Amino acid sequence: METLVLNSTYEPLCRISWQRAITLLFNGKVEVVDEYEDKTIRSVTFELKMPSVVRFLRLLKRRKPVIRFSRENVYARDSGKCQYCSRAVSRSEATYDHVLPRRLGGKTSWDNIVIACVPCNQKKGGRTPDQARMKLKVLPSRPAKLPDTIRLTFTWDKGMPPSWKNWLRDMTYWHGALDED
Ligand SMILES: [Zn+2]
Repeated sequence: METLVLNSTYEPLCRISWQRAITLLFNGKVEVVDEYEDKTIRSVTFELKMPSVVRFLRLLKRRKPVIRFSRENVYARDSGKCQYCSRAVSRSEATYDHVLPRRLGGKTSWDNIVIACVPCNQKKGGRTPDQARMKLKVLPSRPAKLPDTIRLTFTWDKGMPPSWKNWLRDMTYWHGALDED
């Protein structure tokens, strides 16, 4: 199970394991905002509900983001849109396409991975965009920065705990257009 972390002003910051959340709680760094009703943590010395949302008591300064090569960040770089047909795809629908297929020596890297919708991914198959006669909207590259990374990361999505919805609701609304066809 994971715990959603808010900063002191209730903005979503990140998701962490519940074990890490307990450590932060015991160190007096965070307070519990919401808990998993049906999950209790028991030890010899304490018993408490597993926190689903915690909040930092002191305002954290945001570090300069290091843009990690991850599915989430590729999704953010590509603005949640299939790079072949521009259709908006949800995180769970998005496929990660090797522009130059792996069997032709294509690497799994910022400049060779784009998100694609399932139909485009299937249509392209193991071919290059040229061979498949499919044109990329933009040549992929390592992004200098990611617009709205946090917001994209923290849009409530299926599979996330329902209690997170209260804190991610605005972001979902903000990015509602992503779900339009
Ligand atoms: Zn597509």
